[in-house]
Amino acid sequence: MIASTTAVPKTKLKHPPLKVHTLGDKVLRQPAKRISKITEDIRDLAVKMLQTMYSYDGIGLAAPQVGVHKQLIVIDINFDQPSAPPLILVNPEIVERSEELCSGEEGCLSVPDVFMDVMRPDRISVVFRDLDGRPQKLTADGLLARVIQHEMDHLNGIMFVDRVQNAIALSQNLTKKGFSLKDVRPIRN
Ligand SMILES: [Zn+2]
Repeated sequence: MIASTTAVPKTKLKHPPLKVHTLGDKVLRQPAKRISKITEDIRDLAVKMLQTMYSYDGIGLAAPQVGVHKQLIVIDINFDQPSAPPLILVNPEIVERSEELCSGEEGCLSVPDVFMDVMRPDRISVVFRDLDGRPQKLTADGLLARVIQHEMDHLNGIMFVDRVQNAIALSQNLTKKGFSLKDVRPIRN
């Protein structure tokens, strides 16, 4: 049977199928490779990533977070709408970004319970393949643009905490949740 991502229920599983790596795990820093062929294994991985994401109340998950270094991302900002299909991006590339940056709060399943403001372009256009291998182009702003950029960073081994400008607040928040500032690789604007 072919697994269908649109049929993945948006519910929490007691035993999510995949383990999510956390800040400090070296696997998160390894860049992901392009997917040359969308196989049954890739579709199966997308389904498991969705199940895992919904289980932890996430709105996005990138394959490197579950230890797979492939350019695959799942996103669902409509987690409270059972019939709205998730967004799956294979080999995404940003082709346009707005000059205007905006600040917004981000969190990450790989840095649980840490939420901090990050500056990013407000609007982007991204090209990618869907799970049927069809080329797609999407222009997004607001939350969706932010989530896509956050997840694409994971494909390059970049964590959102690397982009936080307020180093003092970051250090405090990470320490409180048992993470170390040593595992952050700061990118200053
Ligand atoms: Zn993340």
